[in-house]
Amino acid sequence: MKGIFPLDKFKDIETPFYYYDTQLLRETLRTINSESAKYKGFCVHYAIKANANPKVLNVISQAGLGADCVSGGEIQAAINAGFHADKIVFAGVGKSDKEINLGLDKDIFCFNVESVPELEVINGLAAAKNKVARVAFRINPNVGAHTHANITTGLAENKFGIAMEDMESIILHADELQNVKFVGLHFHIGSQILDMGDFVALCNRINELQDQLEKHHIKVENINVGGGLGIDYNNPNRVPIPDFKAYFETYARHLKLREGQTLHFELGRAVVAQCGSLIARVLYVKQGSVKKFAIVDAGMTDLIRPALYQAYHKIENLSSEEATDVYDVVGPICESSDVFGKAIDLNACHRGDLMAFRSAGAYGEIMASQYNCRPLPKGYITEDMH
Ligand SMILES: *Cc1c(COP(=O)(O)O)cnc(C)c1O
Repeated sequence: MKGIFPLDKFKDIETPFYYYDTQLLRETLRTINSESAKYKGFCVHYAIKANANPKVLNVISQAGLGADCVSGGEIQAAINAGFHADKIVFAGVGKSDKEINLGLDKDIFCFNVESVPELEVINGLAAAKNKVARVAFRINPNVGAHTHANITTGLAENKFGIAMEDMESIILHADELQNVKFVGLHFHIGSQILDMGDFVALCNRINELQDQLEKHHIKVENINVGGGLGIDYNNPNRVPIPDFKAYFETYARHLKLREGQTLHFELGRAVVAQCGSLIARVLYVKQGSVKKFAIVDAGMTDLIRPALYQAYHKIENLSSEEATDVYDVVGPICESSDVFGKAIDLNACHRGDLMAFRSAGAYGEIMASQYNCRPLPKGYITEDMH
């Protein structure tokens, strides 16, 4: 089965472009809200970095989610899209003074702090504005995730977070500073995680750390477990909505929340990946000496995940029902890694056919570049098609 696309509208739009199915996005958001509402104190944020298309952000902010930002630009994009500042958290290993000042001016909920020097800079900048910044500490839990090596973030060797053995001393240090207030702990172990056992390992680690802090009478209001829930890239039609039920249930079952604690989630990919596709046209079909190439007008500049992580995106020829043939699907960029897929079965391809690269809603449009002086493709949502 192919995805459901408004093909009659697509034929008039310049390719390549991104298409976001807002009906699926809204259904995904409803599922997130209903599954997380089953548990007391669960609060879901959207990780802006997965997709910051303003139309997509609007739909997400309307569903009431908070925002997880990793730059000043993302804080601004979140506010422009209607996310409330008191639901914005700001993470990242290298926050600049300008970005911290923006967060202070907007009175965001919390800075997720990743080092002692950063804590001191935030304290100084907050003092200059006569403000008290709420801070959570991102702890590196040294928990592995069964995912691509470039997208694990919670191992001791990764650049992210504060070492567990330094957790108590930085909390005590924050206590001595006048313009920061310790409000919680933050974790994030990686992305595209499908093994719930990885999240269980994180819960177990957080339980240990909470026991340790409790012994020293340190109170923690907020626990933030980051994002990372994966999606089914192989079956975008059969599994369009990730298993949020199992995800939230895993945390409810394994994480021992203390009385009055709020548990925050920061989901990116799981919210937006499946609603988005990159739509391109076949420029040429070329018979090489050993294989057949379908050369399309989209490239790694528009969807870099295959070139960057050897990621798989399901490819469909939307214009053909002919018998299938086998193609390497490649873009026009002058790089050998500009390949979307090798030896892919596709309905026979011809010049002008429309192709869909599925599950491209996360880390697609937002990672686009202008390499080779290519213009950035436009993004359209379902409502633009009427
Ligand atoms: C990237 C990131 C997320 C979102 O990750 P997904 O895998 O897209 O859910 C959440 N929190 C932080 C701190 C991140 O860096």
